[in-house]
Amino acid sequence: MSSLKEKNTSLTSFEQARTGGERKNAGETSPRRLSGGKPGLEEIRPVKPLPGSGQDAEAAALSRSFVIGLLFASVLLFGVLLLLLWSLSYFGAKFLSSEAGLLTLGAVMGVFMAALALSGALAWALATNRRLPFIHNLRGLMNFVFFPLMRLAGIFFRIPKSKVRLAFIRLNNDLAGASRIRCKPHELLILLPHCIQKSACPHRLTHNIQACTRCGACKVGPLLKLAERYGVEVVIVPGGTVARQMVKEKRPKCLIAVACHRDLTSGIRDVAALPVFGVVNERPFGPCINTSVDVDEIERAIRMFTGAGAAGN
Ligand code: SF4
Repeated sequence: MSSLKEKNTSLTSFEQARTGGERKNAGETSPRRLSGGKPGLEEIRPVKPLPGSGQDAEAAALSRSFVIGLLFASVLLFGVLLLLLWSLSYFGAKFLSSEAGLLTLGAVMGVFMAALALSGALAWALATNRRLPFIHNLRGLMNFVFFPLMRLAGIFFRIPKSKVRLAFIRLNNDLAGASRIRCKPHELLILLPHCIQKSACPHRLTHNIQACTRCGACKVGPLLKLAERYGVEVVIVPGGTVARQMVKEKRPKCLIAVACHRDLTSGIRDVAALPVFGVVNERPFGPCINTSVDVDEIERAIRMFTGAGAAGN
C-alpha cells in the first residue's frame, strides 16, 4: 500500500496560486495563523457559498429518456441536413443526370438509416442495460459524430449548452457501463481537479497527494481512503493539458475523471479510445474553487470497472 501512496501524486499547485484572486471573489481570506506555528486545519476559514451556485442538481436530474430523446433528435436533424445538402446539389447541379440523382439520394438515405439504426441500438442497450458486442467501438463515433449532432440539436431546440454536455457525459457513462469493460485495480486511474482541495488548506499537495492529512474539510481525504481501499491510483491535476499528459504517461486501461461538465466533455472526447467514467463535480462556491464530488458515485464507478468489492473486504 505504501507504493500506492507514493504513486498517488499530484502534479503542481501553481493553479492554486493562480486561483488566489478567485478566493477573494468567493469572499474568502487567506488562512489565519492562530498559534504562530504552522497553519493548522482548524485555522481554515469557512467560505460563503455564492448565491445561485448550488450543486449540479441539473446533472442528477437528467433523465435517461432525455438523453435518448436528444440522441434521436440529433440523428433526425442529421437526416434533414443530409436531405437539404442532397437537394441543393441535385437541383443546383444541372449536369447531374436523374440516375446520378437517384444514386446519391440512395446513398444519403443509406447513411441516414445507418445512423438511425446505430442510435436505435444505442438506445436499446442503454434502456435495457444490455451489452452490445461492438458498443465500445461506438464511443469514437459518439464523440466525433453524435456529440456535434447533439450540439446542433441543442442549438436548434434551444437546449442550454450545459445540459447537452451533461447528456453527453451521461451517454458516455452509460456506454462505459454497457461495454462491460473490466480492468484490474492497478490499471484504473482516478483524475481529480485541483479545485477539489480546500482553497485555504495549508498543505501543499505538490507532487504528493499524501501530504493531505485527511482532516475532513474537503473530499481529498475520503477519496484517498477510497482509493487505498480498492487499491487504485488517484492523482490531482491542475488542468486539462496535464490530465491528458498524465493519461499518456500512466497508460491506464480505465479512467474515472472528476471535473466540471465543460472539462469533462472535452476530456472524454480527447481520450476516445479509453473507457472513461465522468463524474461532474459539485460547485457550491462557483467554478474552480472549493468544489466537491459524490464519493459514493466514484465508488460505484470503481466497482463497475473492477467488477469487485473493496480490497481486503
Ligand atoms: S482533506 Fe486534505 S486536502 Fe482537504 S483540507 Fe484537509 S488536509 Fe487539505
